[in-house]
Amino acid sequence: MKDIALKLLNKIEDAGYQAYIVGGFVRNELLGLESNDIDITTNATPKDLCSIFKDAIMPKVEYGAVSIIINQIPFEITTFRKEFDYQNNRRPEKIIYIDSLKEDLLRRDFTINTICMDKNGSIIDLLNGKKDLDAKEIKTVQDSISSFSLDALRILRAIRFATSLNFKLSIEVKEAIIRTKYLLRALSKERVKEELNKIFSSQNSQYGIDLLLELKLDEVLDIPKLKNIHYYSQSIGIWAFLEVEDQYPFSKNEKEMMEQIRKASLDVLNPYSLYQNGLYASYVAGEMLGISKKEIAECYEKLPIKGRKELLIKGTEIAKLLGKKPGPYLSKWIEKLEQEVVLGHLKNEKRVLLNYCLKNQSMIG
Ligand code: ATP
Ligand code: MG
Repeated sequence: MKDIALKLLNKIEDAGYQAYIVGGFVRNELLGLESNDIDITTNATPKDLCSIFKDAIMPKVEYGAVSIIINQIPFEITTFRKEFDYQNNRRPEKIIYIDSLKEDLLRRDFTINTICMDKNGSIIDLLNGKKDLDAKEIKTVQDSISSFSLDALRILRAIRFATSLNFKLSIEVKEAIIRTKYLLRALSKERVKEELNKIFSSQNSQYGIDLLLELKLDEVLDIPKLKNIHYYSQSIGIWAFLEVEDQYPFSKNEKEMMEQIRKASLDVLNPYSLYQNGLYASYVAGEMLGISKKEIAECYEKLPIKGRKELLIKGTEIAKLLGKKPGPYLSKWIEKLEQEVVLGHLKNEKRVLLNYCLKNQSMIG
């Protein structure tokens, strides 16, 4: 990954510009961690970059950035810039391209994100980011109150980096968060959800949750149930018990999964609950209840059927038996049969199931 990145830097430099790797990749490399993508900063403009790379490029001119994917590694190349007129404590309205690396670094969020690597793989550390990296401390580049007032998302980024790297927040950062946290209310729920999700997905999520609570961000973020949450390995489990589907945007699948997790948590080892909610939701609910995956998997294995398709009777057969036309009423029958079979009250045999239908005609209709 690094080799490809350094080649890319050399290519930009050969065309007469400066270029450095910056941000996550350098930070992670120094910490011995893997990265998924690489950020590059350069004084070449998107237009210059387009002529250097010709084909393999997707300009995002409005942000002064271009993306390139080489060997499935995404590279995000941004031009040295100064940012002006932040809107809604978030996005700058105006950027101007500049020629100075140091100035570009000064507009960034945290010192640990300003460490650069040049085309030879040497570290360039103009703002002493390495010192804070070694001290495992998150500090803002500018004074923290101004920094968070310009872009309130940085508050959540600070907590996210503290969580994923297991770093502490500097005292200045903590105090500034307390003073500026009200600005989080103005951010788009989508962006907030994305950052929270990164915090919740971390293996160290309990630390992130503790920081959110310590700084009392649960109130401004509309997640009052956060104090009841104790470590879940799956972020969807945390969301399920926060019950914030009305406050944050979730996909249909996410909503269904959260509902299943909540239902499963009511009686996780009950065979019908396992059958209805499935193994994954039951594992997540089990984690909250302190019931091991092994125990849940053993109960699941014992289920006589794992899905409706395994039921040895078809709706049409029931209709024929009852002398009726097939219709929506059949789903009630199927559900009832599933339940009886799963709970071990009926054997999954066609004769037994048909017999049950005949006997209970009056009950279900
Ligand atoms: P990772 O990619 O591992 O999540 P990263 O540090 O690379 O972490 P990105 O979101 O990829 O984060 O951003 C790349 C760099 O751009 C950051 O390291 C930082 O220098 C700068 N940056 C990103 N978002 C902001 C922001 N909201 N305010 C200031 N600088 C930012
Ligand atoms: Mg990055």
